[in-house]
Amino acid sequence: MIFADRYRHRIALPDCLTVAPFCLWILVALGCSHPKPQFDPDRAFRDLVTQTQFGPRVPGSDAHARCAEWLLAQLQTVADSVWEQDFTGYSPGAGDSVPMVNIVARFGGDASRRVLVSAHWDTRPFADMDPDSSKHGRHFDGANDGGSGVAVLLEMARCLDSLPPPIGVDFVFYDGEDGGDYQNAPGTWCLGSRYFASHLPGKYQWAINLDMVGDADLRLPQEGYSLKLARPTVERLWALASRLGETAFAPEPGQVVFDDHVPLLMHGIPAVDVIDLDYPYWHTTGDTAEHCSASSLGTVGRVVLEMMYSE
Ligand SMILES: [Zn+2]
Repeated sequence: MIFADRYRHRIALPDCLTVAPFCLWILVALGCSHPKPQFDPDRAFRDLVTQTQFGPRVPGSDAHARCAEWLLAQLQTVADSVWEQDFTGYSPGAGDSVPMVNIVARFGGDASRRVLVSAHWDTRPFADMDPDSSKHGRHFDGANDGGSGVAVLLEMARCLDSLPPPIGVDFVFYDGEDGGDYQNAPGTWCLGSRYFASHLPGKYQWAINLDMVGDADLRLPQEGYSLKLARPTVERLWALASRLGETAFAPEPGQVVFDDHVPLLMHGIPAVDVIDLDYPYWHTTGDTAEHCSASSLGTVGRVVLEMMYSE
């Protein structure tokens, strides 16, 4: 409907009568019920690099504050509304009351049918999985772990601005995901999504969380909690990926991960975690842009857009 409205003025009536059924036939033949905007993988990748240039986005740091300002500025140019959720939380070495902020960007005004797409924007305070133990206290870029999901969300936000989706969409950028203690899982992880799930700004038909989706060698099996508690949404997403020929979405069970989708699942929202855990640079100083690719960001962006625009 939006497609017709946007192009109505460019096609004279007799042409329209001839061309429209043909176009419709092509769309149906391709299995496309809605036109979709074009996801630009290179622009998304530039956003990934920009985040690393701020430095590690550790809560309480200057880089974290500057990145938040940048995210807000990016989103305010495209979204219907943007707001912040301030809260405090635990960060290793800095205590229990570190200021943190979730950033929410809304598209589709107050549409009653809404979906949610999310990623965490903070980075872990230290590279405690680095193969070189002398580096365990260092910060790291978080190009994939933090940067990749944010990059896909920002580019999707521009896409939604260029061609409004048939449903309301909220993007949320979670803070405080990655400062947890491995021995105290899951209590110290996913602080932003816990806060968000306790202060929901709407009802959601489904939610998709993106985490570590930039690995140049991308492979996305189906995460365990998602399969257990949101199987129809998982199956729909992977079926759409298959239809698009996006083979990085592997339709087979993956690991069970406590990630930012779990607080939403606990509030009854069918939430899916799209995550590639098979990343050798996870929580190491090697988590840099050179180990990520625009192609991987494009794969994920196209599939999630397909989910929104096929509603
Ligand atoms: Zn992490």
